[in-house]
Amino acid sequence: MAEIQQLLAGNAGYAAARANVADPRPSLQLAVVTCMDARIDTFAVLGLHLGEAHVIRNAGGRVTEDVLRSLALSTHVLGVTTVVVMQHTKCGLAGVTDEELQTITGSDMRFLPIADHEAALREDVEIVRSTPYLQKVDKIAGFVFDVETGEVAMPVRWERDADS
Ligand SMILES: [Zn+2]
Repeated sequence: MAEIQQLLAGNAGYAAARANVADPRPSLQLAVVTCMDARIDTFAVLGLHLGEAHVIRNAGGRVTEDVLRSLALSTHVLGVTTVVVMQHTKCGLAGVTDEELQTITGSDMRFLPIADHEAALREDVEIVRSTPYLQKVDKIAGFVFDVETGEVAMPVRWERDADS
């Protein structure tokens, strides 16, 4: 349990120094979907501060049913209109197949591996764009974060005004 105790000790310092944000609505009306990868400090990467954005994370930063569940609430309850899907270089889901991941994990679920970031981002941006209950979203971008340089590229973008 030493690992867990370390978290509680870390919290003591945090609680003492913390800035309070009263409004649960992200002030930039922004939700970022990204990978769970430990090398991504989402707020630092994008110059964000506490209270400005929702961050929804999973393996790969893919738009799954559960991401859509969160985005439904982000948009309808908490005012989000911009969605960024941020995948990254050296991702564990890149360059592998569902079959390999199913063998490693012993699970038969779909892992949504990434053969090509631009193609995967186009797919995920399209899911957000075309989901009927996410019509409040008017800007979507697909980012790739380079874990070595720290730089972000934007291979995919969509804006409701320009496209519909
Ligand atoms: Zn990843």
